[in-house]
Formats: sequence, C-alpha cells, structure tokens
Amino acid sequence: MLFSVEGIVLSKERIGEIDLLVETLTPKGKLWAIAKGAQKSRKRFVNLLEEFNLLNLHLRKTLKGALPILEKADLIFIPESIWGNLEKYIFFSYMGEVLSKVSFKGLEAEYFNFIKDWVKFLDREPKLTLFHKFFFEWKMLGFLGWSPQIEACVRCGYQPKRIFYFSVKEGGIICYRCRQEGDFRLSAEQVEVLKIFSKMSKNKEDLKKVMEKKALTFEDLKILNSLTERFFNYFLVFEFNSLQTLKETFRV
Ligand SMILES: [Zn+2]
Repeated sequence: MLFSVEGIVLSKERIGEIDLLVETLTPKGKLWAIAKGAQKSRKRFVNLLEEFNLLNLHLRKTLKGALPILEKADLIFIPESIWGNLEKYIFFSYMGEVLSKVSFKGLEAEYFNFIKDWVKFLDREPKLTLFHKFFFEWKMLGFLGWSPQIEACVRCGYQPKRIFYFSVKEGGIICYRCRQEGDFRLSAEQVEVLKIFSKMSKNKEDLKKVMEKKALTFEDLKILNSLTERFFNYFLVFEFNSLQTLKETFRV
C-alpha cells in the first residue's frame, strides 16, 4: 500500500551496503523508513535526505511490523543557510539530536507544525544566539508537558512581586519565604521574560515579538538557558552530546 506524508529529515544511518534508514518527523509523529539503494544510487535521492530538509515522502507499507520503504521524495524546503554557516550548523545539529532523542504522545501535528515554521524562521535569521536556544528548549518543555509554573509559588501559592527563586524539581517559582537550599534566584526581569514566553501562543512570529519587547543581557540569557538545561538534566535519562559544542560556540 502506498501513502504520502510530509516529513522533516532528522537523521540517517547506513544499513548494510546500499540502504539507508531515514528518521523523519511527520504530523503523525516520528517515522522511520528504509531508502533502498540510497547509498549507491544517488540519482533517486540526490541530496534530498539531508537533515532538516522538508520533504513530501512517498512510502510503501510492507509486511506488518516492518519499516515502510521510501519509494520517492519531493523536496518542499531546504534550510540552505545551515550549510554555509558553522554556528547555524552546530545549532541545527543540537536541535536534531534533541528532536531525535525526545519523544512523547499527543500534540504530534502541532509539534510538527511548530518545528517546520521554526526551521524556516531560523533559516532567515542572520545570527543565532542563546535567545534562540532558550526559546527552542522552552517550547520543547511545553510539548513534553513540563512547562514551569511561574505565576505563583509552587510551595504556597503566593505570587511574589520582587524576589523570586526557582525549583526545577518542583517545576516552578518559589517565594522568598519558601526558598530552600538548591533553589536558585531569578531576577524580576527574567521572570517577566518567562511569563511572556509562557503566555505566548504557537504563533511562529512569537520569537520576534519577544525579541522586540525585551532587551535581555547576555547574563540574563545565560541564566534562562541554565534553567531549561537543568530541566532537561533532571527529567531526561540521557544527555545531549552536541550540547557542549553548542555552548562553546555561544561562549557559555
Ligand atoms: Zn511560597
């Protein structure tokens, strides 16, 4: 049986002498398919199976339980700028690893559409910064169902006005009175940014709005980035190998 679906290439792996196993993100979730002969005959898939290409995949279902065969793919979008910009390439490698390792049930179509718009958005951005990294990680936390609680103290419900602490373990803001060892301090400005982020819809222009509204310092961004990283560290059983390289690129 033949079927077609849009997909973003996340990774590819050699299988035997001639085939490739291709991992894609689709509106129905992750999909693995075998591209027969893709290592040998480059004709059918000329540069199509590169990471983050958006493709229209034409697949053939085989036996029950077996992976579908990728018969053909049409190119919809290539994020061209990755290939001439080392920083972007490193950023995309990190995103690819996160998208490949993280999985969840539910919201697949919304997730796919966000990633699709996000890749196009990043492709147009002249320079990627810690802001982009934080935004991506923050959205990922949302899809994973780990959006931090930032309106009120997670221990007592009080809404702090000026002094804020944060607990990753309990997933949110802590007030001055409830603070404990291990909670870390956030400035009122950082909390303001978190509030804006958490209120925002799934609009692809969100990032632009935030960037226009807030002039965050490098130090603010460092703290926000360490917050999302701590979440990943706490909740995920694996690490992201490409994170260190990305942090070196951003000098943090
Ligand atoms: Zn409290």
